[in-house]
Amino acid sequence: MISKKKALEMIDVIDGMFPDAECELVHNNAFELTIAVLLSAQCTDNTVNKVTKTLFQKYHTPEDYLSVSLEELQNDIRSIGLYRNKAKNIQKLCRSLIDQYDGEIPEDHAKLVGLAGVGRKTANVVMSVAFGEPALAVDTHVERVSKRLGICRWKDSVTEVERKLTSIIPKSRWTKSHHQLIFFGRYHCLAKKPKCDVCPLFTDCREGQKRYRAAMRLEGAINE
Ligand code: SF4
Repeated sequence: MISKKKALEMIDVIDGMFPDAECELVHNNAFELTIAVLLSAQCTDNTVNKVTKTLFQKYHTPEDYLSVSLEELQNDIRSIGLYRNKAKNIQKLCRSLIDQYDGEIPEDHAKLVGLAGVGRKTANVVMSVAFGEPALAVDTHVERVSKRLGICRWKDSVTEVERKLTSIIPKSRWTKSHHQLIFFGRYHCLAKKPKCDVCPLFTDCREGQKRYRAAMRLEGAINE
């Protein structure tokens, strides 16, 4: 694993690459953001935004989501992966919001995590994006790039990745860095085809160097 100093230098480079990174899930309030994040599991933000464009016109409150059958809600989000379970979770979430918090999204991390269907990642996103509290949510992009760069170990759990990143990055930058790491993973260090050949972190990147050596070995074998 690389040093904390080197890791922060890498984060600074990513900061320079994506200075305007922000949440790409379209929403108007904390409730819509929570629904959008629930829908985004194993799904792109673009796909979620296409669905929520009409979904948020039809449903405005937790009561609205409970006023229709599960089948109707599933049908409204059926272009999203795992839509059956996601619809169930949305209705469970809405029921617990009404029962426990008068239908409002609580501005409290522990309470958010206690809601049906809300995990630590969703709670972190809602706390930081909707309520402006410093938090660093670890999604698939954040996890992948942190491991490729050697900031974390491949075997580290998501919780461990979050712990390491928040111990390296100053608290005032957690929210921004979360979005910047997502942008870096979404637009540059892509899951299948990372842009190592034009990457400013290539020299120090464990994964980039590994891929380069593998490509060189392959080229050598072909030329023999
Ligand atoms: Fe990602 Fe490649 Fe850059 Fe490493 S060198 S951070 S693997 S794009």
